[in-house]
Amino acid sequence: MVSYDYDLIVIGAGSGGVRASRISASYGARVAVIEEDRPGGTCVIRGCVPKKLLVYGATFAYEASDALGFGWQIEGLTHSWSSLIAAKNAEITRLEEIYRKLLENAGVDLIAGSAKLTGPHEVSVDGKTFTAETILVAVGGTPKILDIPGMTKYAISSNEALDLNDLPETIIIHGGGYIALEFAGIFAALGSKTHLIYRSIYPLRGFDENVREHIAKCLPGRGITLHSETSITKVEKNENLLEISLDNGKILEANQLLSATGRKPNTAPLGLRELGVEMGNSGQILVTDESQTTVPSIYAIGDVTDRVNLTPVAIGEGHAFADSLYGNVPKKMSHEMIASAVFSQPPISCIGMTERKAAEKGIDAIVFETRFRAMKNTISGRSEQSYMKLVVDQKTDIVLGAHMVGPDCAEIMQGIAIAMKMGATKSDFDATVGIHPTAAEEFVTMRTPRGTKSHK
Ligand code: FAD
Repeated sequence: MVSYDYDLIVIGAGSGGVRASRISASYGARVAVIEEDRPGGTCVIRGCVPKKLLVYGATFAYEASDALGFGWQIEGLTHSWSSLIAAKNAEITRLEEIYRKLLENAGVDLIAGSAKLTGPHEVSVDGKTFTAETILVAVGGTPKILDIPGMTKYAISSNEALDLNDLPETIIIHGGGYIALEFAGIFAALGSKTHLIYRSIYPLRGFDENVREHIAKCLPGRGITLHSETSITKVEKNENLLEISLDNGKILEANQLLSATGRKPNTAPLGLRELGVEMGNSGQILVTDESQTTVPSIYAIGDVTDRVNLTPVAIGEGHAFADSLYGNVPKKMSHEMIASAVFSQPPISCIGMTERKAAEKGIDAIVFETRFRAMKNTISGRSEQSYMKLVVDQKTDIVLGAHMVGPDCAEIMQGIAIAMKMGATKSDFDATVGIHPTAAEEFVTMRTPRGTKSHK
């Protein structure tokens, strides 16, 4: 019998790695987790959590201006960026400590350092070697910065944007994905002149087309200047300001340039290819439904596999891995019907198919949609509209997709997700009595398919 230092070594104490370590240890496995930064990973330290705290901070700016219409008189209202960052940092430190404790209480050894695989059962951490029967790679991803002259030298990524010493007077955000939109909402609300530069006609490629068009209409009303179908050709520095040249000949000046053009898996330094682990074109680890790589003793979960790059998915994959290997409960994480949100201003949330996806699959889909001014916006004077859409299979009546742009949509979508995961039909939605007066009730009162006459 070969003896190993551990049953399981996990590389990366982020969302997926921490869950897999704790649950495996709870089944009696001897587990070590190796982390080169702070336990908690992207989500807790430089992703979902700090971002959402800043989003909350930003939302108060709109609440305050909307309050005027409701009779509030607010004088001398100011915001301190440094106080917000300090409060956010204190909360992140508290959460990091909780993650350390979770690992400690589960009996998992936390090893600090950068790991590299040196064999199918062997990991080297800053010159020291550890062995395990199974190795789980959960190293996540990192910002991908495009190869444009001056970009790497002058642009910051989302990591630094969460920790700036000062609120920039002007910020240019490069990218049209969810991280770009979320940061645009934060900076614009807190007072930065904010420009969003992206290549497509609308931001959020891959989202429902009506949602993309709708959010593009809303963003200027939130103080964000959109530069659609535009690329950055060069970045230079002129004394204190950055000069950002665009392919339409314009040059924009800004204090900060945030590159938010996607993320790539953290696999480069791991030595996986040398061991025969098969990887995709962008460096993602290819795995089976059970998260096993082409080397049987090596598994991978989370963003490094580039399946669905969200925290609850990494956690689900980590849990399924632990249950299957050490709990004797074989499980696979389902990647179907996963609800998600963009915490932009206004926010966006969706689950299931877009209208285009349904068409591509040859499904005869009917669409129910509504655009309306939320009740709060009538008195507040904000002209912004909300948008809701249901994509329904005409043959089966099953709701295939739900999409929303508007306040509280992420909170609303979680409930819709349960119904859709259970296979709810449009008739089930119709049979549900709405909660009045809410925006959410629109999801159960849309009676007229697009392109037909209203029978409401
Ligand atoms: P991570 O959480 O990234 O953990 C990987 C860990 O591995 C890190 O701690 C890293 O330091 C460590 N590591 C890397 N290489 C090594 C090495 N060689 N040796 C040792 N340790 C190593 N998801 C949502 O669901 N909702 C959101 O609102 C959301 N917002 C986001 C906002 C931003 C700005 C970003 C960047 C991401 C956001 N995400 C969000 C995505 C989410 O953070 C990730 O999907 C999730 O963290 C993936 O978990 P993971 O376990 O795969 O990897």
